[in-house]
Amino acid sequence: TAEMFPKEKTIDLRKKHIGPSCKVFFSHDPIKIVRAKGQYMYDENGVRYLDCINNVAHVGHSHPMVVKAGAEQMELLNTNSRFLHDNLVQYAQRLQATLPEKLSVCYFVNSGSEANDLALRLAWEYTGHKDVITLDNAYHGHVSSLINISPYKFHQLANAEQSKSVHVALSPDLYRGNYRQDHPDPATAYADDVNNLIQKAHEKGHKVAAFIAESLQSCGGQVIPPAGYFQKVAQHVHQAGGLFIADEVQVGFGRVGTHFWAFQLQGEDFVPDIVTMGKPIGNGHPMSCVVTTREVAEAFKNSGMEYFNTVRGLATKWLHKPSNGSDCDDVMSDRGRGLFVGAELVRDRVKLTPATAEAQDIIYKLKEQHILLSADGPHRNVLKFKPPMCFSEEDADMVVEKIDQILTGTRNAPLSFLALAPSPQSLWHSQI
Ligand code: PMP
Repeated sequence: TAEMFPKEKTIDLRKKHIGPSCKVFFSHDPIKIVRAKGQYMYDENGVRYLDCINNVAHVGHSHPMVVKAGAEQMELLNTNSRFLHDNLVQYAQRLQATLPEKLSVCYFVNSGSEANDLALRLAWEYTGHKDVITLDNAYHGHVSSLINISPYKFHQLANAEQSKSVHVALSPDLYRGNYRQDHPDPATAYADDVNNLIQKAHEKGHKVAAFIAESLQSCGGQVIPPAGYFQKVAQHVHQAGGLFIADEVQVGFGRVGTHFWAFQLQGEDFVPDIVTMGKPIGNGHPMSCVVTTREVAEAFKNSGMEYFNTVRGLATKWLHKPSNGSDCDDVMSDRGRGLFVGAELVRDRVKLTPATAEAQDIIYKLKEQHILLSADGPHRNVLKFKPPMCFSEEDADMVVEKIDQILTGTRNAPLSFLALAPSPQSLWHSQI
């Protein structure tokens, strides 16, 4: 066994030496994970859990090809990206082949946060402007520059002060947002909100460097923007001299099933100016990437500051084939694409009162059945599925079945889930 200490001691040592703001999953009854393989994680007693949480283990935990490539490379060379090496250029070439042609220049970095921070620097340098427009409830990373543009984080602080150069646009949420399914043209309405922010910034003498958004919002509550929204936003932002940054840290690399990149869901005619990628690129190892156009990269170079980094040029591989989406058709709700699915729980279908405690209850009950799931969104009432990509149809069936059972049980209990959907199955087919 890979267990070094009894569980109680691990908990005590964690309390003593690990920063308390790093909250453990299932804090009322934490689990200890000693190994993982594919879509499964194992605790110290060998109990197997089905993992619906770890998106960064993109091609599966401890994938043999990744382990082998990593070990071989570590034995051979681990050095700075300022030496010539074929891996680096070949990797960039292969990555480029998955992207629209104009996105051709790569910067390899270590984390999603580092990628987004660099993306901001590229935009500031290229445009000479300072302001950033971000979406409500967005999370883009944990470094200072990104907390500034992450309402998901800065809204949590009682005395939070929003930077004057950051503007928060409406989340393009068709379920709970300002413009919903019944609106005749939500894409235009939400894009107009971005344009209003641009005009207001101009009135104050500010200029917009970038609009940044996840191609599908994750922490924001698994929000799928209406098609055409990004094109319209890009038009407004470009007109103001700014750039469009697509954060694909969570949703890139085929997670959405039908396309390799989630921004492609918006249509062939949409290409961001900068795309940021995160740890799924290295199956969870500290590696990430920023891809941009030649023009933006040249402007950054002309700023005179040299850019280099010690990212490990491991021969980490990912499977190029996006999942065909059919694997999880039966767990697709309106809020899901591929293996990125959200199910929002409400107590009242009219008022949309968030069923936050109930979502937690489901998560704990699933854990008892050895399924690991988390909840997110501004109200923490969105059950969030982003499992490793080797998640199978049988796995999906099992999770749906268990949730059905839990919902059925809960609905029979007085006072709980008074206004859930008529059939538990509809959880997956419509938003309850
Ligand atoms: N952007 C998004 C959308 C994220 O979800 C995250 C974290 N998973 C980040 C950026 C930051 O990535 P990292 O934790 O690798 O710094």
